Amino acid sequence: MHRQLRRFLLLLVVIILSIGPASFSADTVINFNKGYAATAKGINDMAYELESTYPDWVEIETIGYSVDGKPIVALRLTENINQKTAFDYTQKRHVIIDAGVHARETINPVLVLKMVEDYIKDAQNDAHLGGYNSRTLLSETVLHVIPNVNPDGFDLVKFGAGSLVTPEVKTYFDRILPEYRQNRLKANANGVDLNRNFEDVYLVETSGAWVDQWQQSGFYRRTDEPDEDFFKGYSVASEPETQAMMDYLLSYDFRGYVSFHSMGQVIYYFTDHLGTSYLKMNESFAKRLADITNYMLMPPSDQPEFGYSTYYFSNNTYKPAITVETTPTIEFPTPLTDYNREYYGRSLWKIPLELMLQTKALGYYDYKVYNEGAYVRDYPSKVIADAFVKKFGGEVHYYKGDPSYRIAKEVLIKMPGPQYLMRSIKSSEGVVYVEFREIFEMFSYRLAWVPEAQKGVGISDANVVSVDIKNHELLKIQNHNITRSKITPPPVLIEGRVMLPLDVAFDVLGISTEDLIIVESGKNIYLDL
Ligand SMILES: [Zn+2]
Repeated sequence: MHRQLRRFLLLLVVIILSIGPASFSADTVINFNKGYAATAKGINDMAYELESTYPDWVEIETIGYSVDGKPIVALRLTENINQKTAFDYTQKRHVIIDAGVHARETINPVLVLKMVEDYIKDAQNDAHLGGYNSRTLLSETVLHVIPNVNPDGFDLVKFGAGSLVTPEVKTYFDRILPEYRQNRLKANANGVDLNRNFEDVYLVETSGAWVDQWQQSGFYRRTDEPDEDFFKGYSVASEPETQAMMDYLLSYDFRGYVSFHSMGQVIYYFTDHLGTSYLKMNESFAKRLADITNYMLMPPSDQPEFGYSTYYFSNNTYKPAITVETTPTIEFPTPLTDYNREYYGRSLWKIPLELMLQTKALGYYDYKVYNEGAYVRDYPSKVIADAFVKKFGGEVHYYKGDPSYRIAKEVLIKMPGPQYLMRSIKSSEGVVYVEFREIFEMFSYRLAWVPEAQKGVGISDANVVSVDIKNHELLKIQNHNITRSKITPPPVLIEGRVMLPLDVAFDVLGISTEDLIIVESGKNIYLDL
């Protein structure tokens, strides 16, 4: 009896450990009870509490307002978020997740905020939960989280029509949906299904024609009037929530997107209108998520769909875009009992980690589009890249490997004497940069590079000069006098070589920039910064 009890207790411990929660740190900011009870404002407050509790990891931006004037926020998570400079921030990979597009799917906003806190704690403890190295992933990646895309709908489902604060908005809502079923609503306060309201224009690579799935969706619409669900809107992107998301989804070079919906425990990935190689890539990512969650991959639908946020994203970027439908329960708002069961039991917490991991390799292309010298996005073929440039402006550059963030032209500088600077560049803004090493060696400095501090140091018989790449600071010691100055415009890197603005370098060396002859070769140089 005694032995049986011990065996039973041991088994219980094993079961509890294998479920997972035991290995996570205790809640500090985010907990499911609080999320279950929260208003839309309460969800945003939790996001702001994450920012104030973990200021080195989290920053928040308001990206738009709902029909009823409620803020829609984006939370960004990465290591040392406040130390970002143009240099290290653009070098990081950006990925995005969102939740709360559909009103009644009330579980996901707090789940995605919980993920943020769990990742921070895991990175701080270097605990490698689930075998993921959160710390490394968050040092290389910026995870963007839009926790609640449809705050009006969230409140309408949980608290009824009385939650609308703007009198005209409430009057209109009462008129269009006088007897709405509170716990079934998917729409926003205008009775528009936001996930049918996104612009949905894609390129047919073989013909070069643009196809507008939203405009062509007439036959498949289920309603022409504001409704609890499936009303696509009177015009495309008519809703402020849609507009905010559309702007944000293209405002970074996002390498992948996961949109959290409910219900069904299924994953939508099938998108054949962008060609087979896109479909294969998206499928491989979706399969990975299905393995982790034990959710089912949805087979192709025989009914054409349109206006999804994921379609808008993939039509424009050709990067992985997946919809994950959480929870098995058809009851809304989602019952509290689902929260732990889905988050831990179905390992939902792993999904953004997997997104960060997979986008290291998925969806990198050789045709890079630049606009005014700045990198925008890469595309899988010349035809596609040219079509986007024709539509939105910019120019296409072909090269393999990671994108560089700025483009410049090679220049040759003839000095007043017999010497030439061979390794200079002119940026798209017209600033000429000289290579730190080349020019200081020309003036007999001995040079050293301190990689961990990102500093270059030059020593001559009279002076010591140090260039701090990270902080854009120049330090000069001459006759025991120390002078510090900001380097403007900032220094840039080309394949690890430090480039200084010509004016700055010549000023430090005490030489005139008059009588220089600068010849452009026209050859493109891709800058790391
Ligand atoms: Zn949904």
